[in-house]
Parts: sequence; C-alpha cells; structure tokens
Amino acid sequence: MKIAVLSRNPKLYSTRRLVEAAVQRGHEVRVLDVLRCYMNITSMRPSIHYRGEVLSGFDAVIPRIGASVTFYGNAVLRQFEMMGVYPLNESVAITRSRDKLRSLQLLARKGIGLPVTGFAHSPDDVQDMLKMVGGAPAVIKLLEGTQGIGVVLAETEKAAESVIEAFMGLRANILIQEFIQEAGGADIRCLVVGGKVVAAMKRQGKEGEFRSNLHRGGSASLIKLTPEERSTAMRAAGIMGLNVCGVDILRSNHGPVVMEVNSSPGLEGIENATQKDIAGLIIQFIEKNHQPHKTKTRGKG
Ligand code: ADP
Ligand code: MG
Repeated sequence: MKIAVLSRNPKLYSTRRLVEAAVQRGHEVRVLDVLRCYMNITSMRPSIHYRGEVLSGFDAVIPRIGASVTFYGNAVLRQFEMMGVYPLNESVAITRSRDKLRSLQLLARKGIGLPVTGFAHSPDDVQDMLKMVGGAPAVIKLLEGTQGIGVVLAETEKAAESVIEAFMGLRANILIQEFIQEAGGADIRCLVVGGKVVAAMKRQGKEGEFRSNLHRGGSASLIKLTPEERSTAMRAAGIMGLNVCGVDILRSNHGPVVMEVNSSPGLEGIENATQKDIAGLIIQFIEKNHQPHKTKTRGKG
C-alpha cells in the first residue's frame, strides 16, 4: 500500500511509530504536513497539491490532526476522501470528537454512562445551572480544550460561580460537570482499534492534581478492565464512528463514565505502559479494511 500520514511533525513519537510500522510491513509511506497541502475542489477531479506536486496513488490516509488545525486538517482529509483514499478515521467522525458537547450528546443518546453535564451560553441563573449538575465541587471545561488545559475544579459554589462568570465574560463555550471525586485523580485510557479494545492504561494525576493527563505530569500504569468498562469503550468508539480512538473513562460510584473520545490518541504513553505494538495493529487494520471510496459518511456533513 501507499499510505499518507497527515502530521505536522515527522519527529513526533506517534508519527515515527506509524511510519516505522508501515515500512516494516512493506508499505510505502509519506508524512505530509497538512497545512502545506492545497486543494483543487472541482466536481470531477478533486486533487491535492503539495509543494508544487500533485499527490496521487495513495491507498490510505492516517490523519494525525492536531486540535489547533482541526478545521483545515479536516478539509484536507475530506479532500482525500473525495479522491477515494481510505481514511483510518473519517473527517466527519473527527469533527464530532473534537466538540466535547456534540460527543457527549451523541453518547448520551445511546445510553453511554456519562458524568452529569450541563452546557450553557449565557444563563441568567448560574446558581440554578450549578444545582442542575449537583452543586459544588464541580468541574468546568472549555468546550474545545485539550491536554487538560481549560479544565478547572471549583471546590465551592462561590468558586464555581466566579469561574463560570469569568469564562462567560470571555465568551467561551463551557461545560459544567459533576466532579467524580471517587476516581481519585485517575482515569482509564482505552485504546480501540477496529472495534476492539487493544490496550488500556490507568493514568494517575500527580500529587494534588485532579487531572490525570500525561501532559500535566500524570503517570501511566497497567490496569485490568472490567467487562463493563471494555464494552463501554467499544460502544463509545462505534457511536462516534471512529476506527481508532482513545476512550477516556472515569470509575464512578455509578459505574464507568466516559469523559471523552480522542480521535488522535498518542501512542507513546500506551505503548510504553503496555509494551504493545499499537502502531503495528493500526497498520494491520488498514491492510484488512482499506478500499477505494469506502467511507460511511460520504456526502454527509
Ligand atoms: P482534556 O480534553 O483537556 O484532556 P478532559 O475532559 O479529558 O479534558 O479532562 C482532563 C482531566 O481532568 C481528565 O483526564 C480527568 O483526570 C480530569 N477530569 C475531567 N473531568 C472530570 C470529572 N468530571 N470528574 C473528575 N475528574 C475529571
Ligand atoms: Mg482528556
């Protein structure tokens, strides 16, 4: 196969591992900086140009689109889809996953366990909204944050009100969520490839930190999933329409709750924690499933 990896930096661990795994399995692979791609949007012959060259002959594309370039990156991915190139994750599914509110609504509709979550633009009654999610302590999140930035724990009602008002003053879209205290600053990252959980790790926030993100100094260790956690992760991936994703789960008193589904999960933490060749599994998935013009969401928004 000829595979394109859409990534801004070929030196990143995940990008390097995917390239390595593809080459090892005998494929031709190219890393393309998504912001350097430009497109010709014609109805008969959609094309993508790259540094003066017309791209052609790709069988599959692996999107590793950073949160800050979601909009343009997805447009390029959509163009690959229009050209019939098989995407590891489809542009529509990536768009869904990048919006926390949209993701939670889709998961809620199918009965996936979630933390009680409120969303508001500019409520007149911040107190009532807080009451709706069970009062303080509460977690307040920017709708499009990543890596733990933009996630705040408000321990008291007063603190929660000021944080909500401050974010609203900045015209930011926010989520207000029940704080799952019993998770103890830990969450579980389940890595799903092709509808199966192929690896899982527990991430524990550093001392005094409720956020478990590895970027915020959290540490990873092995964990055994319960059957309920495993099936929750598999179902969440299916609902989002993602072939490869990281499903983040909190262990709450009312069972596993999904916090978010990440469409470009980092491979470094999970490969190191589990010693599994996840990049290899991803390439194998593409080998089995790639077909020209095979997208579930073609023509849909
Ligand atoms: P990001 O997209 O920035 O990673 P998350 O929603 O994943 O944002 O939140 C970051 C971290 O904060 C999570 O990994 C988890 O450890 C903690 N966290 C988030 N929401 C809650 C919650 N409702 N209850 C307890 N901990 C939470
Ligand atoms: Mg997260």
